[in-house]
Amino acid sequence: MEIHPVHITSYADEKFNLMIFADGYTRAEFDKFHEDVQWLKDDIISPDGALRRVADLLNIWMAFVPSEQSGIGTHDQPLPGAALGLYRPGSELRAVYVKHPRRARRACKWIREGGAGKAGCDQAVLLGNDPLYGGLGGEFTIITASKVNGPQVLRHELGHSLIPVGEEYDGGWVYTGVNSDKAKNLDHLKWKKYLSDPDNVRIEDAKMAVQAYPWWDLDQGEYNITFSSSSVSQSYPTALLRTSLSSIPSPSHLDFALNGITLNLSRYFADGLEGSLDRRWLDIMLPGLKDSRNVIKVELTDEGRKAEAGLGGKMLTSLEVIEYGGNGRFNHTLGHVGAYPTFDLKGHMTLRPTNEGCLMRNVTHPQFCSICADGLRRSLEEKIARKQERMHL
Ligand SMILES: [Zn+2]
Repeated sequence: MEIHPVHITSYADEKFNLMIFADGYTRAEFDKFHEDVQWLKDDIISPDGALRRVADLLNIWMAFVPSEQSGIGTHDQPLPGAALGLYRPGSELRAVYVKHPRRARRACKWIREGGAGKAGCDQAVLLGNDPLYGGLGGEFTIITASKVNGPQVLRHELGHSLIPVGEEYDGGWVYTGVNSDKAKNLDHLKWKKYLSDPDNVRIEDAKMAVQAYPWWDLDQGEYNITFSSSSVSQSYPTALLRTSLSSIPSPSHLDFALNGITLNLSRYFADGLEGSLDRRWLDIMLPGLKDSRNVIKVELTDEGRKAEAGLGGKMLTSLEVIEYGGNGRFNHTLGHVGAYPTFDLKGHMTLRPTNEGCLMRNVTHPQFCSICADGLRRSLEEKIARKQERMHL
């Protein structure tokens, strides 16, 4: 195992050490691993990076063990001769698992106990040499070398591992930590001292009209979903359609229609992902829904049907529509700290501090909200203090 420093602020004992392990890089790809790590490091601790406010508490290292083949596995099978054996359960651009967790655990422990000299390992990051979206949080932060999604998954999963916090996005199942509270705690929210308008605390008025995780392969046919609006007793004149796709390189490959009218997706296809088959997120502002029955229909155009599918297929992976209360009942101001409703997989509501100002909600947002960022700093300081206490026992 070859270990190199990447971002060092002091001795390993005095800092929190991230160790980035290689998987699916052959011996000839050492330079690529080095470049991928540098670029991930630049993303998280650059002046506007998600971890910039704790860069002084971190050391970042890289650990290289060559794999026999380049890439990661699919369909539950790691590639033969892989250093750690990262693989996708199917082919979809979704979770990535590790086949040999004990190898990673043992290597991290050996480094932590001084086996590799000055280096440290307080959190292992397993980097799979694959250009497309994938990852997982937990004991290990698992990511891929996807140019756009690699840093996004790294920031979000490090949030879970290091702060630790729950989700702020809808449709998950873990809503705990500094960034989540119950509606009944409105008068004494965990983030009370951060509130933009502490004398007028209210739950911002948004409703979840529909949320779905279809993972539907559009080569199999069209996708349809029917739902009604929340505008019955009160009006919800605007709405956000948040959806994610994979293997759709261009807006011209898709006909995405609301109530029979095709939406113009071109302005929502993100920069940096032009022509890419990687997974992508789209946030589409809608003028509002019909009171009664609404239909979203998604299908490939002729051009889309003729195109060759990338890994995982031409998928509609997720879709939700959030409606916003009119007449000032919802504060959209970026940076406003209040009480925003989040709806879990079963539709139960918890509260979060900002609307879209945190990467724990919106994975394409590059930064944590101030509540998560302060929680991160506190948590890392505590982890370092505990480590030093243990050393002096
Ligand atoms: Zn947050």
